[in-house]
Amino acid sequence: MAYPRTVTVYLVGAGPGDPGLLTVRGAEVLRRAEVVVYDRLSVATLLDLAPPGAERISVGKAPGQASLPQEETNALLVERGKAGQEVVRLKGGDPFVFARGGEEAAALLHAGVAFEVVPGITSALAVPAYAGVPVTQRGVSTSFTVVTGREGSGDLPIRTDWEAIARVGGTIVVLMGVAHRAEIAERLMAGGLAADTPVTAVTWGTRPEQRTHRTTLGGLGATPVEAPATMVVGAVAGLDLRWFEDRPLFGRTVVVTRAREQASDLVERLRHLGAETVELPVIEIGEAADGGAALTAAAGEVGGYDWLAFTSANAVERFFAALGALGRDARALAGVAVAAIGPGTAAALARSGVQADLVPGRFVAEAVVEAFPAGPGRVLLPRAAVARDALPEGLSAKGFTVDVVEAYRTTLAQPSPTALAAARRADAVTFTSSSTVSNYLEVAGEGPHPPVVACIGPVTAETARAAGLSVTVEAAEHTIGGLVAALVGALGPQLAC
Ligand code: SAH
Repeated sequence: MAYPRTVTVYLVGAGPGDPGLLTVRGAEVLRRAEVVVYDRLSVATLLDLAPPGAERISVGKAPGQASLPQEETNALLVERGKAGQEVVRLKGGDPFVFARGGEEAAALLHAGVAFEVVPGITSALAVPAYAGVPVTQRGVSTSFTVVTGREGSGDLPIRTDWEAIARVGGTIVVLMGVAHRAEIAERLMAGGLAADTPVTAVTWGTRPEQRTHRTTLGGLGATPVEAPATMVVGAVAGLDLRWFEDRPLFGRTVVVTRAREQASDLVERLRHLGAETVELPVIEIGEAADGGAALTAAAGEVGGYDWLAFTSANAVERFFAALGALGRDARALAGVAVAAIGPGTAAALARSGVQADLVPGRFVAEAVVEAFPAGPGRVLLPRAAVARDALPEGLSAKGFTVDVVEAYRTTLAQPSPTALAAARRADAVTFTSSSTVSNYLEVAGEGPHPPVVACIGPVTAETARAAGLSVTVEAAEHTIGGLVAALVGALGPQLAC
């Protein structure tokens, strides 16, 4: 009996552009890919999901790149698949909707290479949805037809009976139709559709650059539409259930300077509000200079302290890793009170099974000092190699004996030139600590800098000002949520008085 063959090649739909529209299955197979074969720049952010060591092969179809002939792409998939590698063939939208996935699957089948198709969310449905156009609507449209406006040669497809499509009477979704839009409109009108039939044309749908043109069949030819666009023709195109383009940070680009492993919360919140984000990690978090020896020693003696104080989630994570390496856990803190500077740090503690006893109302060192009871007592303060003295000094003044141990150090990270160029064109830059400010300036030099500078709190803002940046907004609450709220205030639609 033949054993089932192991799947090696996955034909994965990446969705139309918004990275959140990749399917769970798509993310799963990408995460363990050994080879990723991709063709459009629009899915570049998804490539980050693949392991860092995975081979990434572009087969073109991105602006300015020659594309590999389809036969060679097929041969590449067959060859890698036969070699037993886990290959992800990532394609925009759905792999079987105008994407030549069928040809790739046929080549794999023919060569005896096992494959799996992971359907994707096609732009034909998602792009209208992001423009607030439902492709069917009770009482308005009972069908939708998805049709291409271009053949491989670049011409209008000769076998497509546009007049017949017009007579179906439902919604018509045209992909790849920008170049021939005037002719398509003519043909549909020749098939009986009125010149005032609504048309919605959406360029770069589901992405922060989304642009929507609302016109009619009669006006389509003269409407400036840029590719790639999805065009919707029919009564539903007259509906305008807008939501995406109304998000407060829609169309804005915001730079995130946090270390890569810490950036996701801020990045997600900004994207959710419609912003495009540029990840420019200017700090890298590394081991303490002594390799963690002092931290491990302190963790081993934590039971002898009255207080354990944290000013960052990083320090929390490193501390508990050190404790874990000693074969111990949160129970070692049984008689020790724990302080956190703010909710992010408290959340990191909670992940390690510890509820903070003290979180001040304002998330700065001075507020931690104020919230502490009077000394005496012993405080253990694991933190970054370079940090302000306000906390240890303030606590000493209150009668505590403070042991500061280096839990980690931050070093300068060199972001890629592309990320830096994108950052210079952005609308805003965010700083979540003084070290992000100084490292950003070291990387970005004299500028130009984004016009809006947003800081998480007064200390970071002061560092920025001292370095010559003009600070536009400072978060009222010194948290990631507060920073995002401040940005919405600075960049979002101005409310009428
Ligand atoms: N397999 C893809 C379609 C590939 S054909 C899918 O299922 O979506 C490429 C065409 O898809 C483009 O010319 C354009 O018409 C449409 N398209 C893809 N991404 C788009 C986007 N983000 N916004 C608007 N149209 C898009």
